[in-house]
Amino acid sequence: MSSKRAFQLAEKGWRLTWYALSARHQAGRRATLSGWQADAPSAYCHRCGISAGPGSVKVEGCSYCVGRKSPWDRVVRLGSYDAPLDQWIVRMKFAQDWSWGPWLGAKLAESVGRIGQGEKAAICPVPMHWLRRWRRGYNQAELIAREISRVNKWPLAAVLRRPRLTRPQTTVSLSERLRNIQGSFDVGHVDLRGWSVWLVDDIKTTGATATACARLLRKAGAEKVYLAVAAVANPHHADFTHVEPRPTNHAASPPPAAPAGPPAHGAA
Ligand SMILES: [Zn+2]
Repeated sequence: MSSKRAFQLAEKGWRLTWYALSARHQAGRRATLSGWQADAPSAYCHRCGISAGPGSVKVEGCSYCVGRKSPWDRVVRLGSYDAPLDQWIVRMKFAQDWSWGPWLGAKLAESVGRIGQGEKAAICPVPMHWLRRWRRGYNQAELIAREISRVNKWPLAAVLRRPRLTRPQTTVSLSERLRNIQGSFDVGHVDLRGWSVWLVDDIKTTGATATACARLLRKAGAEKVYLAVAAVANPHHADFTHVEPRPTNHAASPPPAAPAGPPAHGAA
């Protein structure tokens, strides 16, 4: 390799590292200014992830999920889908402000690492159809997952695929959501026996997407399946239509301070 080529590669590596560090810093600075803090585990139900009052969650779950079969062993979240977390997620998904991904991942990594300590764990993001990923430029669930993987030094196991393009879940009614994603995921030829797999997504609303993915991970042999999400929408939010982007708000918002594109594969 010529010295010029080596220099170009070193420069590229440095630039990508700077982007990743800078992204976390910028998102973190905005979060610090807002005074926001992640929820303590006692603030939500460990089975379904919705907000819960002190002492209201038993081993078998909260009043909302008790008696319902859970496809995962537990949920870890940063907060409910309310301000300001909801706006950060909306910006990450719909306004190209991808810098929230690594920052939310770093925050989640603390709780995930504590719970998964001593287990043979792997991190699996909820996949995005290639066409949607191409349009957006990145999969926000993967940005979060990469950071959890990096911090806890657990392998990123992107074993799920999304070969079928479906309508966004936020645009279909609650009753149609399960049917909308039916058959849209599959799992590669992997053997997950003996592994605890952390399924990672940005938001859990009805849980239809996470349920479909968790079932596939179980089918591939995963011993335990955990769900790690940045936010959980509480069921009192009617039909969850508030998760849709509000174009008028975006138009009024300042342009994102982060670099224009996501970090390249493996940069974070
Ligand atoms: Zn519950």
